[in-house]
Amino acid sequence: MSWSWFPISSLVTKSALHRPVTRLYPGERRAAYARTRGHIEFKINDCTFCTICAVKCPTVAIVASKQDKTWAIDYSRCILCGNCVDDCREGCIELKTAPWPPMLAKEVLTFRKDYEGPQPPSGVAVALPVEKPKTS
Ligand code: SF4
Ligand code: SF4
Repeated sequence: MSWSWFPISSLVTKSALHRPVTRLYPGERRAAYARTRGHIEFKINDCTFCTICAVKCPTVAIVASKQDKTWAIDYSRCILCGNCVDDCREGCIELKTAPWPPMLAKEVLTFRKDYEGPQPPSGVAVALPVEKPKTS
């Protein structure tokens, strides 16, 4: 037997016994890192509608209204910078590690505090003006 076969057979054996270097996505997913920026989550209960988060958002993704008691986020604008999370004094906004699913259309979620009808888990989806009201 020629010794030239040895390196090849050793490589073949190593490859056969080694676990695959890629994952069978989407069945097998990598766990998120602790600081992964996946998506923004909002809890309306403690929100005072102070609008600080909306003012600090660099992409105008948030619209909050004290008068209407509404808070809305346009996920297609959010760049996950975390400004709103850092600046909300009530702790209403969180950066979650789970990625937001791919969007096939513009997604705006609006939350209304005194809404009494049936509510989806993350709030109330209603129509929202696309442009942010002008602030002085
Ligand atoms: S989420 Fe926080 S910063 Fe934004 S309007 Fe509500 S209380 Fe104010
Ligand atoms: S994470 Fe940044 S871009 Fe996204 S809503 Fe908050 S402030 Fe705006």
